[in-house]
Amino acid sequence: MKQVENNPDFVDISKYPHVYIDLRYAGINNFMGVDLYGPIYGSSGKVFLHKDAAVKLRKAVKFLEKQKPGWSFLIFDALRPRSVQWLMWDKVKDTPQRKYVANPAIGSPHNYGMALDIGLTDGKHGEVDMGTGFDSFTPIAEPRLEKKYLKMGKLTKQQEANRLVLRRVMTKAGFLQLSHEWWHYNALPEPEIRKKYKIVE
Ligand SMILES: [Zn+2]
Repeated sequence: MKQVENNPDFVDISKYPHVYIDLRYAGINNFMGVDLYGPIYGSSGKVFLHKDAAVKLRKAVKFLEKQKPGWSFLIFDALRPRSVQWLMWDKVKDTPQRKYVANPAIGSPHNYGMALDIGLTDGKHGEVDMGTGFDSFTPIAEPRLEKKYLKMGKLTKQQEANRLVLRRVMTKAGFLQLSHEWWHYNALPEPEIRKKYKIVE
C-alpha cells in the first residue's frame, strides 16, 4: 500500500466526522471468510479513497447531517487493490455470484479508489436496516428489484425508506448507485473512471 500512502491523489477517510469504519474484508465477517486486508493494511486502521471520491463523501456527510441529525455513515469497503480483486474472483468465478464481483482483468471501480460500499448507523440502535446485510449477494439487495420485493412483502416500507435516505444524500453529493447492490456507489460513471484514473495493484 506504499503506492497509495505516499501518493497525494489518495486520502485516508478513517478520521472523517460522521464516518465509521467497518471494513468487512479486514476481518473474517465477509463472503470469503478470510481476512483479505490484514496482509495489506496491517493494523493501521487507514481506509483510502481517491481524493476526487473523498470530496464527494465529505459533501454527502454534510447532506446526511442535515437530513438525519445524529446519523453517520458506515464504510464497508473503499479502495480495494486489484490483488484482492483476484482473490475474490477466484472464489466466485464458477458460481452464480460471479455477477456481483467485477472481473479483475477489467478492474472494479473499487480498484481505482473511486467506489464506496456504504451503509448507515442511526447513533442509537446501530446499523440501519436495509433489508439485507452488506454483500448478501441476493436479489433482495438489488435496488432495481425493490418495488417487486416490496409488493411481495420481502422488503418493508421502512427498509425501503432507509435505503432512500442513503441514496438521496449519496446521489446529491454526486455518487451513482449500482443497480444490483444497495450499498455500492461509484464516484463517476465507470467508463470515465477507466479513462481518467489508474488501477491500484
Ligand atoms: Zn462495492
